[in-house]
Amino acid sequence: MGDPGAGAVLEDDAVSASGRAPSPSAGATRAPGMKRAHFRFYAELNDFLPRARRGVTFLHEFRGGPSVKDVIESLGVPHTEIDLILADGESVDFSWILRDGARVSVYPVFESIDVAPLARVRPAPLREVRFVLDGHLGRLARYLRMLGFDARWRADAADDEIAGVAAAEHRIILTRDSGLLKRRIVTHGYRVREADPRRQLVEVVRRLDLFRAFAPFRRCLRCNDLLETVRKEDVVADLPPRVRERHDAFRRCPSCRRVYWAGSHHRRMERLVSDLLAERARPSAEGAAGDAGAPGHEDREPRRGA
Ligand SMILES: [Zn+2]
Repeated sequence: MGDPGAGAVLEDDAVSASGRAPSPSAGATRAPGMKRAHFRFYAELNDFLPRARRGVTFLHEFRGGPSVKDVIESLGVPHTEIDLILADGESVDFSWILRDGARVSVYPVFESIDVAPLARVRPAPLREVRFVLDGHLGRLARYLRMLGFDARWRADAADDEIAGVAAAEHRIILTRDSGLLKRRIVTHGYRVREADPRRQLVEVVRRLDLFRAFAPFRRCLRCNDLLETVRKEDVVADLPPRVRERHDAFRRCPSCRRVYWAGSHHRRMERLVSDLLAERARPSAEGAAGDAGAPGHEDREPRRGA
């Protein structure tokens, strides 16, 4: 992240030449009733903005007394992506009424700058990280389950249902559709930028700093249920002969009854975990604005029968 941290808020950022040309006398040319505020968005929040507004302070004109949340969303940034809003250096919450001449700095969720002394817009972080994924993120859901995370996903889930599940079960929504995250009911969400499922996993693990939360091999990849340890004699009849000879430890999904053991699949998972931990040591490739709106390829999976 190129942003130097909370201190940057105190800087008098140059006003960008993006929108209307600002000048000391510009106030005289305003339409009656129009007010103006300066906005600056930090780090990945810039992905939601048009190029000319990224990484700079820009002027925004408005009427009446809108909440800062509504104005920020009208600029294209979903409120779920935001963790901290400073207005003239003071932290404010989403309901704060934007006033004429305000300088507003907006910081993302999971931003690594140290803002601890300032109040955040969110009451408390979610204690246990749980997810609900949009229908087009099926392969990411399976990867997260491999790492032991509770990741609800159904290929044909409607937006209403995803938002409802997230609110009722305190789950973080993962989606590539920022429209879903703009719903008022949604409090925790993250818009996935990468298109490739494996890279999506790295992105999410990094962004939410989940490296210490891995608990692999405990969840059914198909159902998301926690696996139960079973005795070999209880499953031996269903095992292929080679597995019966070579393995003694088994787990079973209580829902689909699928049996798991430390076979080749298990070794692939181990490799995934060690690759991710290696990834942690690598500096993150940020600063690139990225393609904010590209839909990317879909990896919607067919619904599997158990
Ligand atoms: Zn299962």
